Amino acid sequence: GGEISNGKSQPEPAVEEEAVELPVGAVQIVVSQPDHKFGLNEKALTKILLHPDVKDRSVVIVSVAGAFRKGKSFILDFFLRYMKTTYSTNASLSGSADWIGSDEEPLTGFSWRGGSERDTTGILMWSEVFLTTLKDGEKVAVILLDTQGTFDSESTVRDCATVFALSTMISSIQIYNLSQNIQEDDLQHLQLFTEYGRLALADTGKKPFQKLQFLVRDWSFPYEAEYGMEGGKKILERRLQISDKQHPELQSIRKHIKSCFSDISCFLMPHPGLKVATNPKFDGRLAEIEGEFKSALQQLIPMLLAPENLILKEISGQKVKAKELLQYFKSYINMYSG
Ligand code: GDP
Ligand code: MG
Repeated sequence: GGEISNGKSQPEPAVEEEAVELPVGAVQIVVSQPDHKFGLNEKALTKILLHPDVKDRSVVIVSVAGAFRKGKSFILDFFLRYMKTTYSTNASLSGSADWIGSDEEPLTGFSWRGGSERDTTGILMWSEVFLTTLKDGEKVAVILLDTQGTFDSESTVRDCATVFALSTMISSIQIYNLSQNIQEDDLQHLQLFTEYGRLALADTGKKPFQKLQFLVRDWSFPYEAEYGMEGGKKILERRLQISDKQHPELQSIRKHIKSCFSDISCFLMPHPGLKVATNPKFDGRLAEIEGEFKSALQQLIPMLLAPENLILKEISGQKVKAKELLQYFKSYINMYSG
């Protein structure tokens, strides 16, 4: 060979790509492939979770899951607004106090009008990780996940179950986004999804998952149960009640759900108004959203995301660090790629 060595070992040139930070935005980290196997975007995940400011922190993982076109990404963008003003990130410091924003500002973040991604099934992660130090000195990193999926054919139902199971296994709070009410088939789906997840985990005798937050959108019976947490509690108690008079199947669904999560609650959201629901030109500005919806956001979001309310991710009773989460992602994905 014509190579000439001067005897000194040269440092490997840094691969340029490694040094480049991810652009701020949603990153598809889990994607269903045409053969219904799931792929993991390990490169992006590594960049996010092994970032020097992030890797040694305990994580809080907030996920929103549920059927397609029910406002999941839309509400997550308000979560992002809150996070950007309340926390610092690995890129910037936190901003002002009035987190909800100004009247004319378009709502950006996770894409919420269902564009080209409408046929994908998978999990998106926001590339900015939100950082804070809790009162007890614990340094934490908060990560937001959006999920995508439809239920339109038998195969996509399986994909959806996998996405729901994976996001439940990874998150410390799973938000189950539902339209109008908690129906029997929503509970059936939940049972299927969580069974999928639980089977994949070692049985430790403890509840496998942490918080389940039902989020009912377009609740239209405020005279029966008021908007927010209190009304949600009433509805949830009613729906998850177990009685001897019920068909054994219904009893078993309820027992199963209760046995999977250490904490279950429900929040009733009002309708955001006709412009949000029907105007194709609506860009998410607050000026065109009903006041009741905005006040519900002001209640819901700090309740989930204020530093004092965060739920740290635990697996078998142990807090999980960002760098460890990468390993969990890999092993969970392997369970569903067969
Ligand atoms: P996703 O598929 O669940 O992520 O739904 P998107 O967030 O993309 O929202 C789908 C559509 O629902 C958008 O046109 C939103 O303007 C609209 N939308 C958002 N939130 C609500 C809500 O609470 N109620 C109703 N009726 N529509 C909503
Ligand atoms: Mg979406």
